[in-house]
Amino acid sequence: MNDKPARRFPAALPQSTPAPKTLRPQAPLQHAARDAAQQHRPSGIGLDSAAVRLALVQRLRAEFHCHEAVCQAMREVQRHLFVDSALATQAYEDTSLPIGLGQTISKPSVVARMLSLLHEGASARRTGSLGRVLEIGTGCGYQTALLARMAQRVLSVERLKPLHDKARANLGEQRASHIRLVYGDGRLGHPPNAPYDSIIAAAGGHDLPEAWLQQLADGGRLVAPMQAAQGRGQALLVVDRQGDDYRRTLHEAVHFVPLKSGIE
Ligand code: SAH
Repeated sequence: MNDKPARRFPAALPQSTPAPKTLRPQAPLQHAARDAAQQHRPSGIGLDSAAVRLALVQRLRAEFHCHEAVCQAMREVQRHLFVDSALATQAYEDTSLPIGLGQTISKPSVVARMLSLLHEGASARRTGSLGRVLEIGTGCGYQTALLARMAQRVLSVERLKPLHDKARANLGEQRASHIRLVYGDGRLGHPPNAPYDSIIAAAGGHDLPEAWLQQLADGGRLVAPMQAAQGRGQALLVVDRQGDDYRRTLHEAVHFVPLKSGIE
């Protein structure tokens, strides 16, 4: 998805966390990752260095109020292993990157923001875990790997077979424990494993699929990019379920790939 400068959505009300200062491409963040890489170059430490990821996370923590569990997961997961090797040197910059078939891996600050919002849902706050997660749009599997570190189990749906296969390869043995990848239309959710304490979408639609609301557990939270009112682009939508009550909150503007129907 996202590499357009995101404007604050004017109707952003009420927010459970301080909104990030800005979601503009972060020059200092890029510099931090590059500086960390450069500092260590003489000793031969490369992209797999924890120092490079730490520099990224420190910026996310300071500038984007990244939830501690999210920061920790981002320190652990090696983003460069999820992108084409030709793009690996950009993996710790705050930028989105192509993953093939016209799709993109979201930039780290947006991923951190969405996962932090998810972590502030009622049941996640109560239990300290994202619980049972439904992810729509597996892509290359990077966010799935992050989710897996914060959840009881993750079920991730992807509609493009080559990306579903790519994520399968990228996630490798990590999948064995509690990640399940499904090739299908995520607009339908995945009823066999419902309900879900946390639902997150990496593609933006014009409407909120009814299936997602039905499959959201009581006390659960959904975070998804959604087409805002006419001509206003996409904004992050948060839905909290308490019994039969679904409370919707719109947050800042974002720019995600479209949520499509069917499989390819
Ligand atoms: N979070 C992902 C980014 C994925 S980009 C990552 O870390 O790589 C968004 C993904 O949503 C694309 O792979 C796209 O194919 C997928 N997508 C779009 N509509 C979908 C649908 N209805 N069901 C499942 N996946 C969908």
